[in-house]
Amino acid sequence: MTDTARKNEKNLVCRAFFLDGNKILLTLREVFAHHLQTHRFSSTSTRTLSPLSSNLLMLPNEFSLTNQNDEYFMRMALREAERAFEVEEVPIGAVIVHENRIIGKGYNQTERLQDPTAHAEMIAITAAATYLESRRLLDCTLYVTLEPCSMCAGAIVLARIPRIVFAATDPKAGACGTLYNITQDQRLNHRCQVTSGVLEADSAMMLKSFFGNLRRN
Ligand SMILES: [Zn+2]
Repeated sequence: MTDTARKNEKNLVCRAFFLDGNKILLTLREVFAHHLQTHRFSSTSTRTLSPLSSNLLMLPNEFSLTNQNDEYFMRMALREAERAFEVEEVPIGAVIVHENRIIGKGYNQTERLQDPTAHAEMIAITAAATYLESRRLLDCTLYVTLEPCSMCAGAIVLARIPRIVFAATDPKAGACGTLYNITQDQRLNHRCQVTSGVLEADSAMMLKSFFGNLRRN
């Protein structure tokens, strides 16, 4: 591929991410407008929307921009996990957010690519680094549906990602607090803030359903 062709392809990919991000911002604005109209900051009611089919937020008991953002973007990561599920890959999805916009996303593709490194986080990190044209993902948050493994946690440290949010913990490979704590190891030259348990039940349910299907087949 010539340099010009490569640059054009990269621009196309970046534009696709950009458009995706704009759509998300629009949706977020609509949701907050709806929330303000109907709940006026003080409502204690909770409206639960279908966790996997809706792109709207679950409305929490207390209005919280941070929590709503985390749930919103985790829902986007769950959508990526669904894409993996549909092609019979272990359903794990990730998105990377910069200035409230998704700049990279990915889902597990280790079977299809026959590549042990094709984890959702690795694909999302590469996409985000391409978008920012930087190997350091400063001011970014990575949302992933399962606790990152040691490889992905290592990549998170190398990319200097300041914050990660994951849904379910991974008792067999988790390296962000369960088996290891690579992302907060004082001996390394970068540590990130870790939030866990956001939409944990949705992620766990999808994984359980996937492995249940595998056992039946
Ligand atoms: Zn991994």
